[in-house]
Amino acid sequence: VAAALVVPPAPATAAAYRDTALSAADRVDDLMSRMSLDEKLGQMTQAERGSVSASDVTAYRLGSVLSGGGSAPSPNTATSWADMYDGFQNAALATPLGIPILYGVDAVHGHNNVVGATIFPHNIGLGATRDPELAERIGRAVAEEVSGTGVDWNFAPCLCVARDDRWGRTYESFGETPELPASMAAIVTGFQGTTLDGPASVLATAKHYLGDGGTEGGVDQGDTRLSEAELRAIHLPPFEAAIERGVGSVMVSFSSWNGAKLHGHQYLLSTVLKEELGFTGLVVSDWNGVDQIDGAPGMSALDVRSAVSAGVDMVMAPTEWRRFIELLRAETRAGRVPQARIDDAVRRILTKKVELGLFENPLTDRSYTATVGSAQHRELAREAVAKSQVVLKNSGDVLPLDRGGRIFVAGKSADDVGNQSGGWTISWQGSSGEVTPGTTVLDGIRNSAGSGTTVTYSRDGYGIDGSYDVAVAVIGETPYAEGQGDRPGGLGLDATDLDTLATLRASGVPVVVVLISGRPLDIAAQLPGWSALVAAWLPGTEGQGVADVLFGTVQPTGELPVTWMSGFSQQPINSGDGKSPLFPYGFGLTYEAAQDDTSPPSAPGTPVASQVTSSSARLTWAASSDDVGVTRYEVVRVGTSGETSAAMSATASVTVTGLAAATDHTFAVYAEDAAGNRSPRSGTVTVATTGGGSGACSVTPATQSQWGTGYVIQATVTNTGADP
Ligand code: BGC
Repeated sequence: VAAALVVPPAPATAAAYRDTALSAADRVDDLMSRMSLDEKLGQMTQAERGSVSASDVTAYRLGSVLSGGGSAPSPNTATSWADMYDGFQNAALATPLGIPILYGVDAVHGHNNVVGATIFPHNIGLGATRDPELAERIGRAVAEEVSGTGVDWNFAPCLCVARDDRWGRTYESFGETPELPASMAAIVTGFQGTTLDGPASVLATAKHYLGDGGTEGGVDQGDTRLSEAELRAIHLPPFEAAIERGVGSVMVSFSSWNGAKLHGHQYLLSTVLKEELGFTGLVVSDWNGVDQIDGAPGMSALDVRSAVSAGVDMVMAPTEWRRFIELLRAETRAGRVPQARIDDAVRRILTKKVELGLFENPLTDRSYTATVGSAQHRELAREAVAKSQVVLKNSGDVLPLDRGGRIFVAGKSADDVGNQSGGWTISWQGSSGEVTPGTTVLDGIRNSAGSGTTVTYSRDGYGIDGSYDVAVAVIGETPYAEGQGDRPGGLGLDATDLDTLATLRASGVPVVVVLISGRPLDIAAQLPGWSALVAAWLPGTEGQGVADVLFGTVQPTGELPVTWMSGFSQQPINSGDGKSPLFPYGFGLTYEAAQDDTSPPSAPGTPVASQVTSSSARLTWAASSDDVGVTRYEVVRVGTSGETSAAMSATASVTVTGLAAATDHTFAVYAEDAAGNRSPRSGTVTVATTGGGSGACSVTPATQSQWGTGYVIQATVTNTGADP
């Protein structure tokens, strides 16, 4: 009779945690009531694909598998990725509770581990677009490609605020100000969709929390030495924006704050992130990141205890995942890690799995597999590339390029998809060459030029002669990723590029430089010899977008997401720090500026008899919402050769009304010589802004000989932002 009162547990297939009519919280409560400690520890563990078998996933009840940057090479094609994913997922489903895994990748500029995927511009280029809505559309496209290979978790976006160009991850940043990455956190909504269980929704990751872009000397994984007020003001806003958008996970930074490792930082991970900001998602460690806490190599009990107690919910323990489970089991059994902390971590992980709809739809939705590298996504990438181009110099209006003449194209990155894609492309560090299908800048130029134009290509520039109308040099950095990209010693052009440029310049043909780079390079000394300069960043597979701007098919609208140094010794240089950049944050020329000018300048170098030796309030502009992106300028003074350097000083003040905030515009003052070289060069520019938008700039060309053939000094103001 007593035996009849014992109700056998419901079979897991009909259990409450599988009931979609219940709330996620109720489902997770039910599921957790059925879990042993070991099942919970398994959920908190993320192993690397090459160090784990499908049967390990079953046996250890693992919560997650990743293909990380440092992983063994993963399969290449979208279909083989989907097959791999389904293999691991079926192994997870074969456990008694059938809890699906989360499979994570770094799809940081497209699904960049997969040959044939659409590779979008790296974040620094997206920052130059100033277009959060575009970022959201890109996020959606990337989520579709990722979903088409089964993968449900993206370790993106990187929301670092890159404050030092020496840092090798600068290109993973949308920009140097807190506001710019915060606005581009819109990409989170693209990755995750409107609801996590919607079509092709992928869990996003805001990384790396906190202060990864602020380390001393731009050292990767270094120490960010700031007061708490500065840390919050500069580095926290992008994370706040991502949390507002419901980002599902946050990855901890390898770096330290004032000497304390973030991976063990209870105050920043639990008090600030989870309690104060109300982040309800899961906190994942970085690759072996917990191992660094105690300063000794390898993973120790102290590392594990500190990280989990501080608030890390899932540990990326690529190869040492068994050791992690053992250590955490021992620490928990001994009471050194509270059971309540384990339960909180597991609840956060399971909640995301339930919200993603993984229990209902665990396997690859193959209807998205064909979106990998689709024409539609490549078209979107091309649009993004065009919008990310920043025209920094355009002497004599050499741009846009004319059709019908003779164009000479040179440079090591003119015909190289690997170079234009940068790091995190097929391999972790990326590499030169034909790493994945795409359109090179040269391909784009040929397409845009059309059959009536002669386009000649020579990688090193040899063979150019004076018969060309223009030379385009596509030069810059070759691929690198974290660690290997740090440049403590300099950011100059390499010998190959300098040689190419010297060859081109010797021909006397005007040279347009297209700079492929993940950050500003130290080019002030070369710039006078170039007729035009376009910062192309790391555009990815759709080099056509670069050509679209070179030929004016698309008007340039990109603006610098970072301040451009006048010299390497200025590092770190950021807007508002009082240093004199080569190009200020927000700078970018348009081809339309001349038509928009209320008073166009005299031709550069035109000598005048009576010089204006000082000026003030020369440019007064009532901006409007139609003016965003428009640059206006005014000649401050025109000088001739034979002046003393004292006479060459000039001051301009600019008043702009109609803008919402002082940060919605940028000022610059340039001296431009007869050859069209526009630069403060060794002169100084100081910019002061007050309140609603007025400011003053001055330029003091250092020596008479520098500007010996005559010059104009010109004040420029650009409306960069939201008008009221
Ligand atoms: C990087 C992360 C990345 C992880 C997994 C780490 O080295 O810092 O950004 O998500 O590897 O590949």
